[in-house]
Amino acid sequence: MSEQKIPYKIYLEESEMPKQWYNVRADMKNKPAPLLNPETLKPMTAEELSVVFCEELVQQELDNDNRYIDIPKEIIDFYKMYRPAPLVRAYCLEEKLKTPAKIYYKFEGNNTSGSHKLNSAIAQAYYAKKQGLKGVTTETGAGQWGTALSMACSYLDLDCKVFMVKCSYEQKPFRREVMRTYGASVTPSPSMETEVGKKILAEHPGTTGSLGCAISEAVEVAVGSEGYRYVLGSVLNQVLLHQSIIGMETKAALDKYGITPDIIIGCAGGGSNLGGLISPFMGEKLRGEKNYHVIAIEPASCPSLTRGVYAYDFCDTGMVCPLAKMYTLGSGFIPSANHAGGLRYHGMSSVLSQLYADGYMEARSVEQTAVFEAAEKFARVEGILPAPESSHAIKVAIDEAMKCKETGEEKTIVFGLTGTGYFDMVAYEKFHNGEMKDYVPTDEELKVGFDGIPRFAGNME
Ligand SMILES: *Cc1c(COP(=O)(O)O)cnc(C)c1O
Repeated sequence: MSEQKIPYKIYLEESEMPKQWYNVRADMKNKPAPLLNPETLKPMTAEELSVVFCEELVQQELDNDNRYIDIPKEIIDFYKMYRPAPLVRAYCLEEKLKTPAKIYYKFEGNNTSGSHKLNSAIAQAYYAKKQGLKGVTTETGAGQWGTALSMACSYLDLDCKVFMVKCSYEQKPFRREVMRTYGASVTPSPSMETEVGKKILAEHPGTTGSLGCAISEAVEVAVGSEGYRYVLGSVLNQVLLHQSIIGMETKAALDKYGITPDIIIGCAGGGSNLGGLISPFMGEKLRGEKNYHVIAIEPASCPSLTRGVYAYDFCDTGMVCPLAKMYTLGSGFIPSANHAGGLRYHGMSSVLSQLYADGYMEARSVEQTAVFEAAEKFARVEGILPAPESSHAIKVAIDEAMKCKETGEEKTIVFGLTGTGYFDMVAYEKFHNGEMKDYVPTDEELKVGFDGIPRFAGNME
């Protein structure tokens, strides 16, 4: 086993690509809490959910039992445009750090959208098309999800309406143009196109928007337009299911060389890449077959797992979506202007929240200057220019590798490199100019967000 030389990159053959997604919920003893109807406080039924989501995705959202779900052939064909994704042995980083640890990363940035989000975008667009819908609506913050969805929709000839958080719309014109190249319409949010947008603008003139507000607008348009449904790029059970392709490929690549990781690390915004990366490993852990040290990394400025509360909360600012039980900072929490746009959501996937509550994983928060130091160190030796989001995982992978250097342990570390940072050069510029600030909310600031969490029997009482 250890005689075998591990290559710099482990590539799977196309024929070795997983043909099924793995549904970790099937192996969870404590299932993630169901979405609740905010009016009745009863679990959302398939019928209620199908107003917002297309039917097959509703089934996937509610499916806590089927361990494997076939990936339709059309989606596998699309995946082949950019998958299998390589599992890279970070030999150059190991050498630079002079660590006995063995570091691997799963690189998901090898597509035009630049992140793992395409894995779920194509699945959601496919099921919408299959149902005969005309189009989908969504929100985007930094723009990775909107870009991924616009690529998937153009491939399938579906209309795509994106509400983009206004400050990103203005600050990231290139992302916007990529989306328009793939045929999406992009509206800065809050907008005058929806009732909720008008209301938010009337209450907060001059607001630069938030993800929660853009979600409310996108849902309103989907529900009010014949032949449209809403799609979401993270947080939901169905999205973690689609992202399990990341973990299944990682496991297949490791198994080829008989490698067993000790530590698995991923950044966590809404939880989709981490949930996907860890899923088959977590399955083994849940079934008591193996043990892995799983670590979720979040920004210190938006610390939902490390400082949030585990409660039912609104998913959006306009409070039009179902309630989800998750570690949350409150839907009214506005994180400081940190540069990891994909990690600024106030809540965390219900699946990951339950696993965390049950002690199956650890969470850590890191400050952004340290994250960019790690990003730069990584770029200089491994060549890839990482996204700020992904660099949260890099930072902790390096920390763990340095601990191994002290103890002499040869641990195997696997982390998710979710994307590239070409659209984040303003953030890199601030870092290089020494103008980047670290921001950690005070307990009083967090309390403002917690105060907005709904109170009812068994919730926040
Ligand atoms: C969106 C995004 C994330 C965070 O989202 P998750 O759902 O938590 O995975 C991480 N990295 C990149 C590059 C992203 O675009």
